[in-house]
Formats: sequence, structure tokens, C-alpha cells
Amino acid sequence: MLSAAVRRSARSARHCSSYVKQTRFLFELKEKDDTCRQALKSGSYYLFHNLSPLVRKSGSIFYAPAISGPDLLQVLSSCEKDKFNLEDSVLVGCLDSSVAQFALDLGTFEKSTLEQEFSGRFTDLRKAVVKIDGEDGSLLIRGQSLLRWHDSHQYCSKSGKPTQKNVSGSKRVCHSNGLIYYPHMSPVVITLLSSRNRCLLAHQESFPAGMYSALAGYCEIGETLEETVRREVAEEVGLVVDTIRYSGSQHWPFPSSSLMLSCQATVKDEELNINRTEIEDARWFTLEEVIKALQVNMMPSQLSDGTLPVWLPPKFAIAHQLIQEWVQEQKAVHGS
Ligand SMILES: [Zn+2]
Repeated sequence: MLSAAVRRSARSARHCSSYVKQTRFLFELKEKDDTCRQALKSGSYYLFHNLSPLVRKSGSIFYAPAISGPDLLQVLSSCEKDKFNLEDSVLVGCLDSSVAQFALDLGTFEKSTLEQEFSGRFTDLRKAVVKIDGEDGSLLIRGQSLLRWHDSHQYCSKSGKPTQKNVSGSKRVCHSNGLIYYPHMSPVVITLLSSRNRCLLAHQESFPAGMYSALAGYCEIGETLEETVRREVAEEVGLVVDTIRYSGSQHWPFPSSSLMLSCQATVKDEELNINRTEIEDARWFTLEEVIKALQVNMMPSQLSDGTLPVWLPPKFAIAHQLIQEWVQEQKAVHGS
């Protein structure tokens, strides 16, 4: 079986020229306000209300409807015109090299009116991305991250004067001193520690009850990815990392934008010295225990002895993929 990465690169080679065209189209929209202003009229829109995306249900399928520019204008003009400005939208992608996709927050309108007009429900993003698969989910995540960033970066941090968004939303400029602000995200390293045939999963106080995950921590200024892994492991469980292997990355919008970088790491010494101010519990799990935990649904109910079964982050989280990767590698090694 081909790995996801190989399939992806084969697909992107086939669509290379259209991918390049789309990328150049997006680049132009980000660079040229007038071009982007034109694209707003014919664009396609993902709607939000106070950062919750509009989700529609068709049978048992949930999806984020893409509303066309003309349809959006028609509906909103029949409401109150002065309550919105298409230029508050942020560019999130494009359908081909002519139709741009935007996200727009209509928090100034009454929620129920919009839900009726657009036949959907504004849903908490965390709940929405569990229900919605694929590309739509990542566009919603990008849209919310950008909308939130613009909302919280209205003023220049040096002069205190208002900053102005460019049309696409790829930056904000302070016209009093020329400072340019780009959407910000924080790098976070998530590490699955393993030793021989066991891996280490931890429970933090902020996690839902019973959920265990890989170790995670923010990169500090000046650190490399590898240095963050070594420091976090030493800080949290008191171990010295032996090997580190990069695994993958994911943009994580909760509670504000992070770039999650995942790594597999090994240690030689397994004796834990847990830092209780950072984590509540950390344990070594065997392959069988991890496989069992992967089968437990989110937010399980108590077992007959009053304890909660261990459960792991949901499929869309990179921690889940990191744990799955370890499981597959263990199975390959042990031939099961
Ligand atoms: Zn300024």
C-alpha cells in the first residue's frame, strides 16, 4: 500500500500545473488589493458568527456550505446593509484559478435570522471539525484562525494607532509608522516518547477526564525543534531523549493558532520522574493497551468499578496520527 505522502505527491505531480496556477492566483490576490476586491464579488463564502462556522446537514452528512458572492449580497441586502462589509472577509483558498474562497464573520447580524436564511447552524468549530471531513474542515480552521487574528490585532503594538487590514487579510499595516503585522502562530512540539515496546502517554489537568496524549509544549525563542523535544521531555517526565524523528505537522486553531510539529522520540532509561505542576499523570503503555485505548470513544462513561477507561485524542488531531504511526510501526516489527 502506498503511504499517504506518496499518494499525495503522485496526485500533486499530476495536478502540478493547476496547483501552480492556483498558487499564483492566490499570491496575486494577497499582493494586489484591487484584484482581490474584484474577486470578492464573484467569490465563494464560508460564513461565521462570532467565530462559529455555518454548518449544513444533508441526510447524515455535515458540510460547510459555500455561499456565492451574489447570493450572499442578495440575502444580506434584504437585511440591514450597513451591518457588513465584504472587505472584512479573509481569503482562505480558491476553487480553481478564477474563483476565490473567503471567510466572513457576520456577528453583527442576529444569529437565528442568518441560520434561517442560509439553512444551517452556526456550530462551535471544535464540534464542526469532528463532523466535517477533509478540505472543508481545513478551510474552516484557516478561516477562523484568520478572523480571530484580525479581530485581536486592530491596533499597532508600538504606536497604539489603528492598523488596517489589506483586502485579502494576509497582513495588517500601521500607517503611522509603517509597521506590517502578519498573522501569527506559535510552534508547538508534540512528542511520542517510546522505549522498547512501550510508549509514554500523559494526562494534563486541562484534558477531559480519562484522555491521555503525547507530550506537548511550546517552542521557546531561540530553540530548535530538537532542543524543544529534549527540554520538554526532561521538564515533564525527567528523562533524557536518545533519538528524535520528525513525523508531521498540523495547524491547530484551539485556543489560538499553533503550528503543531510532531516527533517520535526514544529514551533508554524508562524510570519516570513526573513534574506534577506540568502534568497530572504519565504512564508507559504497551501496544495492546494503546490499541484498546484507540477503540474507546471520546468522553467515555465510567466503568463498573467507577474508573474511566483511557481514551486518546480524536482522529483529526495530529497526536492521534502520531500514536497510530507508532502502532503501525510496532505491528510491523512484531509481525502482527
Ligand atoms: Zn504603529
